[in-house]
Amino acid sequence: MLHIGCHLSSTKGYLAMGQEALRIGADTFAFFTRNPRGGNAKPMDEEDAKALASLLAEHHFAPLVAHAPYTYNLCSDKESNRSFAKESMAEDLRRLEFLPGNCYNFHPGSHMKQGTEAGCRMIADALNGLLWKEMHTTVLLETMAGKGSEVGGTFEELRMILDRVELKEKMGVCLDTCHVHDGGYDIVRDLDGVLKEFDRVIGLEWLKAVHINDSKNPFGSHKDRHEKIGLGTLGEETFRAVVTHPDLRELPFILETPQEDNDGYACEICMLRGFAK
Ligand code: FE
Ligand code: FE
Ligand code: ZN
Repeated sequence: MLHIGCHLSSTKGYLAMGQEALRIGADTFAFFTRNPRGGNAKPMDEEDAKALASLLAEHHFAPLVAHAPYTYNLCSDKESNRSFAKESMAEDLRRLEFLPGNCYNFHPGSHMKQGTEAGCRMIADALNGLLWKEMHTTVLLETMAGKGSEVGGTFEELRMILDRVELKEKMGVCLDTCHVHDGGYDIVRDLDGVLKEFDRVIGLEWLKAVHINDSKNPFGSHKDRHEKIGLGTLGEETFRAVVTHPDLRELPFILETPQEDNDGYACEICMLRGFAK
């Protein structure tokens, strides 16, 4: 069975997210570990997290893919921004220990004219201070569209980061279909070739989740604007191929398409489950 869900709001708490996921036919989901624009997190409600953990087990959910706020930048040129990102991520990872066995995805960062190599080094060094041996969360680097000075727009950049991380077994990659397409990997005409390239440069064993989004922009535009499944430049047939591909079909798929409400996601989940049958 296809493992699929979407981004859900955490404003009503953890258990409410699990219940909403069930309502829309999802068996995984993403959520922001805190307000994506600001930095403050609500105090942790341990009982609520435990209630969600038992719902997930009871209904055989695939791993969740929590998302770090976009504002974190581990390779900023400002020390205060780097330490804010590091401290916030440390706190997020401590909290996720109440939901063991899931993933925590983040955007590697923007190097702000310091150069890609310096950026990759700063990100990896920060991760070396954040990961610990006994943790129960897998930390994922997201493939990016490569806009501005974004790090992670090529598989080589993600490899460069992973090479410097000490606790490699705690790491993985989340492939975003809109981002890789906008970044210049042609998953429309050559999905197989792109996955072969991923395997050659990074290794498919690192691939732990997929963000499944169509794109509003042409191939290689380095833009990053998501579109509803089938309505963008990737198109329905690409998603049929993505959800049935032997290298991908077992992974958790997360929708981040522009929807007015969760019923829009319910439709996409139903459609994609149909493709996978
Ligand atoms: Fe993302
Ligand atoms: Fe994404
Ligand atoms: Zn995006």
